[in-house]
Amino acid sequence: MADLTQTLEELCAARGLRMTEQRRVIARILQQSTDHPDVEELYRRSSEIDSRISIATVYRTVKLFEDAGIIERHDFREGRSRYETVPEEHHDHLIDLKTGKVIEFHSPEIEALQELIARKYGFRLVDHRLELYGVPLSKDES
Ligand SMILES: [Zn+2]
Repeated sequence: MADLTQTLEELCAARGLRMTEQRRVIARILQQSTDHPDVEELYRRSSEIDSRISIATVYRTVKLFEDAGIIERHDFREGRSRYETVPEEHHDHLIDLKTGKVIEFHSPEIEALQELIARKYGFRLVDHRLELYGVPLSKDES
């Protein structure tokens, strides 16, 4: 099956964002990341590719991408924002409080329930965010 997903760079072009070489590097890293990196981590990965990239540039670039609606920012209660490309298919997040690892999941039951709740209060649901926070089960719990 052909991959019809637009890359971040294509999305930037479509929105008329001026793309510098540094922005391209950051866009590619975001595109390849599956772990919802924060700015520090994006900076670490970017500067491995181009040592001239400053953390201020990373901050500005993620803000620019976020304002353009091509990446999503998450605040998983760690005091730092984490980023991912806007997913093709909606998913929710389960955050491991011990390691900060993020697990993506999708539950048709939860999706349907949220629609029902919104309706009950006279709303048509247009968006939602759901975050679960947990710690791994110990041996005797699982
Ligand atoms: Zn995600």
